[in-house]
Amino acid sequence: MSSSTSTSQILSSANSGSPRQIPTIRLENIYKTYDLGEIQVPALRGVSLEIYPGEFVAVMGASGSGKSTLMNIVGCLDRPTKGSYLLDGKDVSALTRDELAAIRSHKIGFVFQQFNLLPRTSALENVELPTIYAGVPVDERARRAEEALKRVGLAERAGHFPSQLSGGQQQRVAIARALVNNPSLLLADEPTGNLDSRTSVEIMEILQKLNDQHGLTVVIVTHEPDIAQYAKRALEFRDGKLRRDTMIQNRLIASDVLPTLPAIGADDDGADVSSDAAIRSNGSNPAD
Ligand code: ADP
Ligand code: MG
Repeated sequence: MSSSTSTSQILSSANSGSPRQIPTIRLENIYKTYDLGEIQVPALRGVSLEIYPGEFVAVMGASGSGKSTLMNIVGCLDRPTKGSYLLDGKDVSALTRDELAAIRSHKIGFVFQQFNLLPRTSALENVELPTIYAGVPVDERARRAEEALKRVGLAERAGHFPSQLSGGQQQRVAIARALVNNPSLLLADEPTGNLDSRTSVEIMEILQKLNDQHGLTVVIVTHEPDIAQYAKRALEFRDGKLRRDTMIQNRLIASDVLPTLPAIGADDDGADVSSDAAIRSNGSNPAD
């Protein structure tokens, strides 16, 4: 009996990846319509999908296709108009904003295109912030923040302000901030959208490491096919609908790719603030 069970599990495993696990994310027929009074903007139109623990998913699609709307719902920053969302098996689609905030602070880390760091606050304090909302004891906050900075290779920059850091370093601080409460799910909306290509691969290296070594489930939005090649699975959206769901073939491994890329200007870990900060601090790309 046990052998037939395991056979069916193996067969099922070949199809869906992780049959015995509860999906981290399960969306059933999700709709989101923005109500602007005069007009209704349909941003998601019947999206169903499952993402399992340990997956690394790239969400792709043209500007306006609903990627950020999807991420905001998955990240419990917003609620669907219709449909159900099960996070770790628990229906969160009907929770209040406060209940969503509580779940978000413990289960989900969010990384944005514009880093969204507080400017007059050190890297360490930026990373500490979510621990305050999560009710972590005061004497444990700094230790946790230091640990998170270490995970992104920035321990020695803890006292720096965002303006003293390159764009890549700022995004690493933002990733540390997203990790500080030990979430099981990391969501990143265009995390490399404001970064040059080498720095983008460095960010992907960190995300791959978190996914491979720490089992973190990662979902990123990107409209760059090169970046999606670092994920394990790609979801493509068009007009608020999921159009394609494919496994990545010939997946790129960032730590293998980095040595083949030319180092542009000062190194990201060098004494100087590296080139991408200077380029990007003035004109960041408009958000999709
Ligand atoms: P993407 O991230 O793929 O560019 P979005 O999810 O941001 O797409 O947007 C999907 C659609 O919803 C677009 O038509 C966009 O204009 C609209 N939209 C997004 N956010 C809002 C909002 N807060 N209010 C009204 N319309 C919105
Ligand atoms: Mg967007």
